[in-house]
Amino acid sequence: MSRDIFSLVRNNIQGLQPYEPHDFDNVIKLDANENPYPFPQEVKEKIYQEFNQIDMNRYPDPQSLRLREAIAKYTDLAKEEIIVGNGGDEVLQMLMLAFTGEGDEVLIAPPTFAVYKIAAAIAGAKTVEVPLNEDYSIDLEALLARVEQEKTKVTVLCTPNNPTGNLVSNEIVEAVCQRARGIVLVDEAYYEFGQETAKELIKKYNNLVLLRTFSKAFGLAGLRVGYILADKEVITQLNRVKMAYNMNSFSQTAARVVIENIQYFQPLIDKIIDARSWLSSELAQIPGIKVFPSRANYIFVRVEGDAADIHHQLVAEGVLVRFLGNGPGAVNCLRITIGQKEENQLLIEKLKKVMEKIN
Ligand SMILES: *Cc1c(COP(=O)(O)O)cnc(C)c1O
Repeated sequence: MSRDIFSLVRNNIQGLQPYEPHDFDNVIKLDANENPYPFPQEVKEKIYQEFNQIDMNRYPDPQSLRLREAIAKYTDLAKEEIIVGNGGDEVLQMLMLAFTGEGDEVLIAPPTFAVYKIAAAIAGAKTVEVPLNEDYSIDLEALLARVEQEKTKVTVLCTPNNPTGNLVSNEIVEAVCQRARGIVLVDEAYYEFGQETAKELIKKYNNLVLLRTFSKAFGLAGLRVGYILADKEVITQLNRVKMAYNMNSFSQTAARVVIENIQYFQPLIDKIIDARSWLSSELAQIPGIKVFPSRANYIFVRVEGDAADIHHQLVAEGVLVRFLGNGPGAVNCLRITIGQKEENQLLIEKLKKVMEKIN
């Protein structure tokens, strides 16, 4: 007998779409905000040496203690104020599962990172959107009107915001923390490129939660390591929903060695920041391109013309950027990840060519 499996699925899951990888062969990847540089060889060798010592027959440390101690040093917080997971995505999921559910609302400010909505839906919560202003700043008045509601369990601020690249100031973070009944998640996935953080406010507001990742500045997207910084009481609650052995031994080890060798990554981060100025000014000189200021490792642009078509033509020219789907606030917009020097030069060359063809 064959059952209707779809009808067995929870209601709020039925509307979700499985993530479809968009694979393109032989393109320069400027679409996923990864670190474009090869992983530093010296650090790789240190990691491999430690990998040799791992007893794979044994379960990993369920508390990721050594990694949390390394992050504690890096962030100047206590290990009790840190929880790690399989990428920022998993710790975000833990946060939603712990603090939201059926009948609850999660506030987001689009255009922003798509995963917030998905993580909220999986937890059973509804997402309420308070769109960013035209200049992509937070509409504070509209947000504050909502954060005090009882059913608003989590409010998300992303800084630098993905995809728009601008920061949310600590004044705004603080205003929201003060008024919010629930958790305020400040997503600092791109912190290392913007160098501004709300970390100091954790001592003042125990409802403030910061999200960070090793996927962007530290070139570890493939190993899936992210973490949350928050008051230790928040971390205690997150540990209730954490799967016991969520972090495998390899990822724990690699991320710890990265933190212990952070001096190898700083020059790469600096190069990306330098390239950001170069790329921004080059992009601004192309007719039909409006460039928004960025504090991240990507640049948000609006094009005169059909962004889907321009995206498509760039792929044909061998350059892959992110088309943002023409949603509210992102009509005819593209997000361009900063690559290595030659990749950025090639992008400019190809984009000029495509824009000339169109106009
Ligand atoms: C990339 C990203 C994350 C986390 O990514 P992981 O690879 O899962 O660590 C979180 N927030 C934003 C805004 C991101 O762009």
